[in-house]
Amino acid sequence: MTLAELEQKKAESLEAIAAAADAAAVEALRVAYVGRNGSIPALIKGMKDVPKEDRPAFGKAVQAWRAEVEAALAAKGGGSAGEKAVEADLTLPGRWFGLGSKHPLSRVIEESAAIFARLGFTVADGPELETRFNNFTALNTPPHHPSQDRTDTFWFGEDCLLRTQTSPVQIRTMMANKPPVRVICPGRTFRRDTTDATHSANFHQIEGLYVDRLPQKPVSLADLKSVLAYFAKAMMGDGVTVRFRPHFFPFTEPSVEVDFTCHVCKGKGCNVCKQSGWIEVAGAGMVDPRVFRHVGYDPEKVSGYAFGFGVERIAMIKYGIPDIRWLYENDVRFLSQLG
Ligand SMILES: [Zn+2]
Repeated sequence: MTLAELEQKKAESLEAIAAAADAAAVEALRVAYVGRNGSIPALIKGMKDVPKEDRPAFGKAVQAWRAEVEAALAAKGGGSAGEKAVEADLTLPGRWFGLGSKHPLSRVIEESAAIFARLGFTVADGPELETRFNNFTALNTPPHHPSQDRTDTFWFGEDCLLRTQTSPVQIRTMMANKPPVRVICPGRTFRRDTTDATHSANFHQIEGLYVDRLPQKPVSLADLKSVLAYFAKAMMGDGVTVRFRPHFFPFTEPSVEVDFTCHVCKGKGCNVCKQSGWIEVAGAGMVDPRVFRHVGYDPEKVSGYAFGFGVERIAMIKYGIPDIRWLYENDVRFLSQLG
């Protein structure tokens, strides 16, 4: 390209920019002339082919072209200079990014931690990858128990698994601390369940444990009931109370299943509680002496209770969520409803 041709192109480009009708046209011209693959950068790249003696004058002319094009683009509100001018105008309304909201599972976990904190419980944490001892053996679950099956649990070799419950955190806490121990353990758990409206292979639990010394501070089933009754009322609302039904768990003796009064009908009977007035929520009991022995406590010198419930279960009841899968799909139409 000769200098004369260059001057001709420059005149054309400035004319085109001056004639651009809208922001899109200005942007298209910016891309065409000064964009990464635009004609001006192409000229600069091709400078080595210009005869050596012409290079200084040619280079100067190209730089001048570039400066004039950028000035013309900025005058039309395009290019980086235009953007800066817009940003500097503090009277323009701001851009709305949306605040989002807390996930229902996070809400239940945080609210539970706050309720139990009022009763003196602290939060304990542990790894999701556990040993057979912490997840089963110490919790008095024998090797032939179906929960240890390869079809029920995610195993990695003989001794390593994704925890099926948050109870191993209780084991870790007791092994690391002398009584009294008063903790809740919220966390993620894993089982080889097929996903449907009420099951998920990955879900969340909150377990609680209170152990104290004998004979000074005996812990009873009545203590457990009063703590869970307090939690039920604080979490689900006034008029919600608890009842215990006898059950069996390997790590507690005696063991109970815990029902809350249906918070919708307050016990009168409705569709939510299938007319029974009660909703099954948790499992609980007095810590089995064998568990105490596994963690190095003397069962003659301590007593305690443990309980556990599903975070998804509480969230579904509390917020009226009919399908557990909604909690994992991250559909913003669902998540934004709790505001
Ligand atoms: Zn009901």
